[in-house]
Amino acid sequence: MARTVTHCDVAVIGAGPAGLSAAVQLGEAGADTIVLDEKPAAGGQLFKQIHKFFGSERHMAGMRGFEIGELLLSRCEELQIPVRLNSPAWALFPDLSLGTTFEGLPSAIKAKQVIVATGASENALSFPGWTLPGVMGAGAVQTMVNYHRVRPGERALVVGAGNVGLIVAYQLLQAGIEVVAVAEAAHTVGGYMVHAAKIRRMGVPFAMNHTVLSAEGEGRVERCTIAAVDEAFVPQPGTERTFDVDLVCVAVGLSPAVELCSSMGMEMTHVGELGGWIPSHNAALQTSIDGVYVAGDVSGVEEASSAMEEGRLAALSALSALGVVRRPEAECLRTKIKESLNQLRRGPFGSTLAQRKEDVCRRHEEQCLTIA
Ligand SMILES: Cc1cc2nc3c(=O)[nH]c(=O)nc-3n(C[C@H](O)[C@H](O)[C@H](O)COP(=O)(O)OP(=O)(O)OC[C@H]3O[C@@H](n4cnc5c(N)ncnc54)[C@H](O)[C@@H]3O)c2cc1C
Repeated sequence: MARTVTHCDVAVIGAGPAGLSAAVQLGEAGADTIVLDEKPAAGGQLFKQIHKFFGSERHMAGMRGFEIGELLLSRCEELQIPVRLNSPAWALFPDLSLGTTFEGLPSAIKAKQVIVATGASENALSFPGWTLPGVMGAGAVQTMVNYHRVRPGERALVVGAGNVGLIVAYQLLQAGIEVVAVAEAAHTVGGYMVHAAKIRRMGVPFAMNHTVLSAEGEGRVERCTIAAVDEAFVPQPGTERTFDVDLVCVAVGLSPAVELCSSMGMEMTHVGELGGWIPSHNAALQTSIDGVYVAGDVSGVEEASSAMEEGRLAALSALSALGVVRRPEAECLRTKIKESLNQLRRGPFGSTLAQRKEDVCRRHEEQCLTIA
């Protein structure tokens, strides 16, 4: 039996760093807000992140991800913002009504504005033996090691030298798991050098220009074979190396979780550097559907600090549209958030991302002008 429709000013879909930061900003301005998350616990990826954050005081530098998660959740509680768990948003309509589940029953919400902050999902890599127990995505490894304090193996091979691969390799070492190598198909490390240098100093070799050929074992992983690749990423015969491992941790990138957005016919754009298909949006994070904003990894994969800033930016756009924040005040706050985002995006990887994000906004604005 469906419940009656719940009305609110803003529905926030996803209780990760982007969604929770949006909710806090909305709650502080007095907007009637509901947050939904499909998982039984809120926080998104934050509770897996045991490392200290970089940046300035504004970016909560020095705090660990789970501490930031606790802070955001307690602020939501103080502001009496309902965070509904086990509540996937499974349908979103252009009139800003959405279908969800609440306390196990189908339920509907009618919002005046909607912020989609559904995050990203991990990319998979298929190779012979990839379904053997012990071959795991980095997110699952982080959940087991950092959240449940369970060691998924004793000797690990990490595949992928992006930020997630590097951070997970370090966290495995911290948990007492030997990391035999980090294999990376590209010829350069994709993540921050500070993370790469840390695990290199701890004796972990990097196999650059290498990919996984296969995982083998009786009932679970016992060995993993890698090989060098040429410029076209084709494995080179005679370069195979086999490691005795019981864990293969695959960290080969993230893709924005855009299913809800694409199912409602939102305009999408493809930007490889931001993880693939993302909803087209302008600088205020407004999508092609009036009143629907995106924030965090769903708008292009970055990291948790920028997700929080984007959450605040989307909240500000929603508050402006509701007339809760007046235009000059909104402009002033928007400038502050943008400066903070630019600070985060400065640097060798960030500047490319900043450029790509700007391209998306420019293209979206040009398209809106053309349609008008
Ligand atoms: C597996 C993984 C590991 C990562 N590890 C690191 C790391 O170690 N260090 C680092 O700096 N960055 C890491 N990142 C990146 C960083 O965590 C993200 O940039 C940041 O968490 C993005 O915040 P977000 O709020 O956009 O998304 P998330 O934190 O992913 O939160 C999204 C939330 O939306 C919910 N959701 C999704 N779809 C629906 C729906 N239809 N209905 C309701 N709820 C929904 C999810 O359950 C989730 O709680 C990782 C990302 C992933 C995916």
